[in-house]
Amino acid sequence: MTVPAGPVGWPEGRTSAAAFTFDVDAESAVLWGAPHNADRMSVISHQAYGPLVGVPRLLSLLERHRIRSTFFVPGYTAHRYPAVVRDIAAAGHEIAHHGYLHEQPTGVTAQEEADNLDRGLDALEEVAGVRPTGYRAPMWDLSWRSPGLLADRGFLYDSSLMDADVPYELDVDGTRSLVEIPIQWALDDWEQYCFLPDITGSGLIETPAKARELWEAEFEGLRSSGGCWVLTNHPFLSGRPSRAAALDGLMAHVASCADVWLASLDEIAAHVRTLGLEPRSVERPQLPPA
Ligand SMILES: [Zn+2]
Repeated sequence: MTVPAGPVGWPEGRTSAAAFTFDVDAESAVLWGAPHNADRMSVISHQAYGPLVGVPRLLSLLERHRIRSTFFVPGYTAHRYPAVVRDIAAAGHEIAHHGYLHEQPTGVTAQEEADNLDRGLDALEEVAGVRPTGYRAPMWDLSWRSPGLLADRGFLYDSSLMDADVPYELDVDGTRSLVEIPIQWALDDWEQYCFLPDITGSGLIETPAKARELWEAEFEGLRSSGGCWVLTNHPFLSGRPSRAAALDGLMAHVASCADVWLASLDEIAAHVRTLGLEPRSVERPQLPPA
């Protein structure tokens, strides 16, 4: 197994990178594997808050800070809220792939995983006229076959793995690679804010001040080590006013750091691809004999 090289060389003389990303899960996150949740009007409304209220509020924040962001959009969200998804694209943000109905790759067959990728691609093309180059596995739960399926479809990058501070070239099959832009659970708002009894979440709702403190600590740590800070927020959670206000302050701080390259994930992936890094193989563990 090869080990990734040290800090990536960042463009424009910057010494680290940062990205604000949004997963527009909406209803899909509570429907996949649990279709009975469609009967729960209040639960559905909790998820609908994302596209209905959260996305417009977050788009105005991003515009104010002149930040280009990446929105991971399940195909089902695109079909249910086409105007919202078109607004995201019209504002100049990247639209990337996040399954069709938020299917976890490890919870489906190989054929189903391939079909979900194609169905998501078709939906984003039909609704927003885009062919995404980036993918994020729902629940960040990539399967060992996912990289090959993504490479087959011409994706440039994935953002679902957690084994580095900087992006790297992930070896797919010895001849192809994907740029991997790592994420981590401390940089996700789900653990801070999500409270959906009987469905998901930690059972706690943290304050926006606590969430910002955690995210800023991770930012400063990665900033000082030449890393790539990738924050993942969900409009149904971080689109609420108090949380958006905390995000506003964090955006102002990150955007004010002249040493940090603030970019969307497709821009980061395109840059990393130009570096010609040696692809790194990530090997499935062999279980010891019983
Ligand atoms: Zn998601």
